[in-house]
Amino acid sequence: MKVTEHIAQANGNTQFSFEILPPLKGQHIKSIFDNIDPLMEFKPPFIDVTYHREEYVYKEQANGLLKRQVVKKRPGTVGICAAIQNRYKVDAIPHILCGGFTKEDTENFLIDLDFLGIQNVVALRGDAVKTETYFTPEKDGHEYAEGLVKQIKALNDGHYLDDELLNTSKTNFCIGIAGYPEKHMEAPSLDSDIHFLKKKIKSGAEYIVTQMFFDNQKYFDFVEKCRKEGISIPIIPGLKPIATKKQLNLLPHRFHVDLPEALIAEVIKCKDNAEVKQVGIEWCIQQSKELQKAGIPVLHYYSMGKSDNIQTIASQVF
Ligand SMILES: Cc1cc2nc3c(=O)[nH]c(=O)nc-3n(C[C@H](O)[C@H](O)[C@H](O)COP(=O)(O)OP(=O)(O)OC[C@H]3O[C@@H](n4cnc5c(N)ncnc54)[C@H](O)[C@@H]3O)c2cc1C
Repeated sequence: MKVTEHIAQANGNTQFSFEILPPLKGQHIKSIFDNIDPLMEFKPPFIDVTYHREEYVYKEQANGLLKRQVVKKRPGTVGICAAIQNRYKVDAIPHILCGGFTKEDTENFLIDLDFLGIQNVVALRGDAVKTETYFTPEKDGHEYAEGLVKQIKALNDGHYLDDELLNTSKTNFCIGIAGYPEKHMEAPSLDSDIHFLKKKIKSGAEYIVTQMFFDNQKYFDFVEKCRKEGISIPIIPGLKPIATKKQLNLLPHRFHVDLPEALIAEVIKCKDNAEVKQVGIEWCIQQSKELQKAGIPVLHYYSMGKSDNIQTIASQVF
């Protein structure tokens, strides 16, 4: 089922969903199931699976020179989605990127998803590869998520890249996109970011999932601004419970989000990460309850490969 249909059928109840990332290459899919199993009692209508593009690593050779190698550390997004749909009978949503994909790669990826019965995708640009400052698209790839959304929508209308194909089958993807309550790191202003968000919607996106935030007011203000700008599609909030002291610096650095002073103060007081985890759980429960009270249709949790704290939060909220 499509995310938009899940939301329509929820009859005003707030639903639980979460995102997982594929395991590092070499690990078994069991590590994924072990994280998902405890969360299934909260009946997620869908589970997102992130996509991780290639990275460049430099390996020293016998002659002392460095050799550049291209590696994908977390492959398996499509396989995991298929396995989730098969094992749990819930919708699995692969994230799909512009980065590292030509338009032809994208089309072939989408054909695989369609054949597997996957009906939702989250269309994203992706970040720059770690060794580069700015995002560079593939030679025949998309520069922004908007182009990717357009390509998925075209396939939904039966338009393949090869316009000589006859009697083509139409795909039926519901397209999700990213939104940033605290603006995307490269956007010169929130207004500019929302301007481009609207273009993704005009191109065919049907729902938004937000970047994590730790202050609900940021989300409420963002939704209000989007609605004033005429954006009417669902805006699903993304939530992440802080779990280590290191994340006080890592999350703002990596995701360009602010942490509220009160949360920072609580984390600083903690003696160890077990205490930080507890603070993160309590903070996230409060955030979740407030969003639930506001009638938000779905709360989406970033599990980042660990489900125990999400399980504790969900048991208090759903
Ligand atoms: C919910 C969510 C899930 C994510 N999942 C993944 C994942 O699985 N894998 C992964 O690698 N990354 C993921 N990311 C990170 C994401 O790829 C990065 O944040 C990336 O830098 C931006 O992606 P986007 O789709 O928002 O880009 P875009 O919508 O293309 O926007 C990128 C920037 O360009 C600007 N912009 C957009 N269109 C134009 C235009 N036409 N002209 C000029 N400027 C423009 C925007 O304002 C923004 O600043 C996720 C992010 C979120 C919020």
